[in-house]
Amino acid sequence: MRDAEAPLSLFPDTGADHLAARLHGRRSALVGVNATVGGSDVVHALEDLHRLGVLVAVPACGAAPDPMRLRRSTAPVTCRRCLRLQGPLRVPEGQLPIPGLPL
Ligand SMILES: [Zn+2]
Repeated sequence: MRDAEAPLSLFPDTGADHLAARLHGRRSALVGVNATVGGSDVVHALEDLHRLGVLVAVPACGAAPDPMRLRRSTAPVTCRRCLRLQGPLRVPEGQLPIPGLPL
C-alpha cells in the first residue's frame, strides 16, 4: 500500500518554500523595469541571479543584496556604477545612434 503524500500548498507559509515564493514574486514584479533601493532616488539597472534555486532580481552594481528592498521604477538608470556596467557604447534614451558605430 502506498503512503499518502503531503498535499502541495499553492501558498507555502513557512521555511525555504515561502522565501523562494516571495523572491519569485518580487522578480516577477520587476521584469522589464529598473529599481530604486529603499527610499533612495538613485535608479539602478537590474539583473537576474540564482538564489535558493530561484531567479531573483538584484541591482547590477550590487547596491542591495536584499531584493525585497527594491522598489519598481520606470525612470532611466541614474546609478553611475550601473551605467558603467552597461558599457561605453550605451546610447542614452532619446539620443539617436551615430551612423557607422555599433550599438
Ligand atoms: Zn546601481
